Amino acid sequence: MSEYFDDKEIRSKEERKNEYHLRLSEMVRLGYKNSRRVKESFDELNLAPSDVRTVSDLEKLPIISREKLIEWELKEPPYGGLSDTEVKADRIFTSPGPVYEPHLTENDQLWARGYYAAGFRESDIVLNTFSYHMVAAGLTFHEGLRAVGATVVPSGTSTTENQVQLMDHLGVTGYAGTPSFLKAIINKAEEGGYDVKRDLKLKRASFVAEPLEKSLRDIFESEYQIDTYQMYGATEVGDIAYECKEKTGWHICEDVIVEIVDPATGMSVTPGNLGEVVVTRLNEIFFLFRFGTGDLSRVIESDCPCGRTSYRLDGIADRVGDAVKVRGMFIAPSQLKKIKECFKDIPYQLVITRESHKDYVTAIIESKVDNQDLVERFKDTFKDVCEIRVDKCEIAGPGSIPEKDKLIVDKRDWK
Ligand SMILES: [Zn+2]
Repeated sequence: MSEYFDDKEIRSKEERKNEYHLRLSEMVRLGYKNSRRVKESFDELNLAPSDVRTVSDLEKLPIISREKLIEWELKEPPYGGLSDTEVKADRIFTSPGPVYEPHLTENDQLWARGYYAAGFRESDIVLNTFSYHMVAAGLTFHEGLRAVGATVVPSGTSTTENQVQLMDHLGVTGYAGTPSFLKAIINKAEEGGYDVKRDLKLKRASFVAEPLEKSLRDIFESEYQIDTYQMYGATEVGDIAYECKEKTGWHICEDVIVEIVDPATGMSVTPGNLGEVVVTRLNEIFFLFRFGTGDLSRVIESDCPCGRTSYRLDGIADRVGDAVKVRGMFIAPSQLKKIKECFKDIPYQLVITRESHKDYVTAIIESKVDNQDLVERFKDTFKDVCEIRVDKCEIAGPGSIPEKDKLIVDKRDWK
């Protein structure tokens, strides 16, 4: 049996890029013809469809946030002019906002590569705990699981008690849902006297829609021997990325173009730097170009040992609004937490100021003694994690950092 869902996952980067460009050109051509809003925005920008053919050409178009999409769809229901009003969709999903999404199921491989990479196969019986009501989640995950041959139990949002019973009676081997809900199901099973590892057959779980904390992953994998995987997507654009068995980043899906951009300028950041995840799903009916997810990530360009040739995303831990931008680079809460973990009991705080029109980073580290080793180690770790350097490190006596829970304080005054 192949290790890959299909050959697309292992084609050369060049081949992938060429296909992206062909499909993007076609989507632009159709969008200009069939979507009133796309035509209008191209005309306003003095762009012809032939001006947007490559991934980097996308930078000529604005980023569309979720808020913007909702505004358009409310003003001009159902699709805000992004789709042909006569479009024949197989389904129309909705999500709070409201956001309406026309959806084609034909040739739809949504989520399938992600489930395949997580090891789901024909022999699996999978509990799909996502809602099947109105939203895209339940049905699209269901179909992804079906595409890899698994048998699906559409348990949806049933109670934890019901989920435990289904797992037991049906010999469920896989779980699709959020990590916190799986933990709640396990807790319920244990309350009911089950020894989860012995009495249930659950051996694999695929999570999406919620971050998977490392501590929780460790519990699932070591205490319960459940192999865990993450996928990433957004209701407006479908699947975006998925984890393979290496678990070192998420492979970008084959039917989306992902850009990592500076939200202030809409331009791509240097590969490897943090930026907003901006997604264009290549399709023929819903012409949403450059959807801004509001999530922060970076791209890993190095080859993955699994053999898949797509670039990977380095997880998602933060929202754009939670990060502080310093010298053009984001410093995200997850990065600061990572540094904190490296210096376990040593409180620190970063203070960002502006001096001579430049951002200035001061790190205050609490220590009883003036420890130059600690200072050097901190500087190196910070550079490794955040890709920018600390300008100054100050050692301060224990208890001297105010508001210790704040790892970063932005004192810049932009007036
Ligand atoms: Zn891989």
